[in-house]
Amino acid sequence: MGLKLFNTLARSLQDFAPLAPPGVGMYCCGPTVYDFAHIGNWRTFVLGDLVRRTLEFNGFQVNHVMNITDVEDKIIKGVRETGTTLRDFTGKYESAFFEDMKTLNCLEPQHKPRATEFIPDIISLIDTLLTRSFAYRAADGSVYFSIEKYRAAGCTYGKLQNLNFEELRAGERVKSDEYAKESIADFALWKARSPEDGEVFWPSPFGEGRPGWHIECSAMSMKILGQGFDLHLGGEDLIFPHHEDEIAQSEGATGKPFVKYWLHGAHLLVEGKKMSKSLGNFFTLRDLLAKGFTGREIRRLLLSAHYRETFNFTLEGLQGAKTALARIDECLAKVREIAGSLTTSAAAVAENFTLQKFGDALSDDLNMSAAWAVVFEWVSELNRRVAEYSLSAGDAAAALSAWQKMDSVLGVGTKSEAEVPADIATLFEARQTARKTKDFKKSDAIRDELKSKGWTVEDTPKGPRLKKI
Ligand SMILES: [Zn+2]
Repeated sequence: MGLKLFNTLARSLQDFAPLAPPGVGMYCCGPTVYDFAHIGNWRTFVLGDLVRRTLEFNGFQVNHVMNITDVEDKIIKGVRETGTTLRDFTGKYESAFFEDMKTLNCLEPQHKPRATEFIPDIISLIDTLLTRSFAYRAADGSVYFSIEKYRAAGCTYGKLQNLNFEELRAGERVKSDEYAKESIADFALWKARSPEDGEVFWPSPFGEGRPGWHIECSAMSMKILGQGFDLHLGGEDLIFPHHEDEIAQSEGATGKPFVKYWLHGAHLLVEGKKMSKSLGNFFTLRDLLAKGFTGREIRRLLLSAHYRETFNFTLEGLQGAKTALARIDECLAKVREIAGSLTTSAAAVAENFTLQKFGDALSDDLNMSAAWAVVFEWVSELNRRVAEYSLSAGDAAAALSAWQKMDSVLGVGTKSEAEVPADIATLFEARQTARKTKDFKKSDAIRDELKSKGWTVEDTPKGPRLKKI
């Protein structure tokens, strides 16, 4: 079954066919680094990770770009209030963001462009839009995109959702990065320097100032992935105006289709309500870790529902995620005992029926509830066979390999893996290799290194095991 995804641009489910397979260019709108990302933000970022992993599961090679918005109204306010520099202010939240991303086991994007490092590209894009008459300079030195001129040239503004142009208020300009949903108006490409901006400004042919939020994404995505690319992803709240504006700016400048597939994740409610600090249901990832939950439990919960459905995130749900993962962990621990040191061939894994069903569920527009159902049916079946002593070492080894493949998408790992840090696991594997090739000098050196890091290798009848000293 080929991969099908819901394309907001077509408003329908489509077969996924990238422009130059097996490569896929994927751009995800990243964080605005003025605060710690909350759990609603994380739903979207984990979705981006799921899409990338699913594409890789299907044999595609993904070039994943996630931008960092490091200049914007709220950031400038933060810089002003804290009396720090722009880089110091955003650097703190940027580092926290990537730490959190690791906690949730999201793969690191190959490109993480910061808007402030693309100012020349942004300026050149605005210049092109001015030359093509889709942009105009206002009296205050700002540059705006003209939706009217864009439409007059036969271009469509509103490709992702139907917009009511009756409500278009001619001449009204929105300078802020935040818009009222109903207001359709020209938007700022370049914002002239104002006293509140302090030292946050750049020189440009249009005068000192800074870029608007929308143009940043157009400039960074096209610079890295090319003028037309495969996949653009974000939360549904970004459809309008952010993504509509990205399309208008990019296609206005190049005259070519900007993105082939647009994917949007739905909102997250917390305890049945929209998140708000006053309701006490506003959680950053760190708040949830402080309550004793782990990254893999939070990831499991975020990945339990379909991405296009509003999801109600609850603390009770997190308890459920803990129980669900414990079921998988217990089962795999028993299966690991039976498999011992036996491994299985890649061919045997590819033919695995469970894996095929799992892949089919993913291919059906990332049907996660169906994918998890495949996992839990498989766990029940394995538990039954373990209880009946009918699971052979070979079958157990095949089951472990199948799990590894499924987990390459789910990314929840297993408890024992979670307990062994990655660098220790790598050393352990290197020691195994050294022993196999009878390089005992090397294997002894690695054993000593492991010991210095607090781990010992115990030789058991079922092969060597790592143990904490
Ligand atoms: Zn964006």
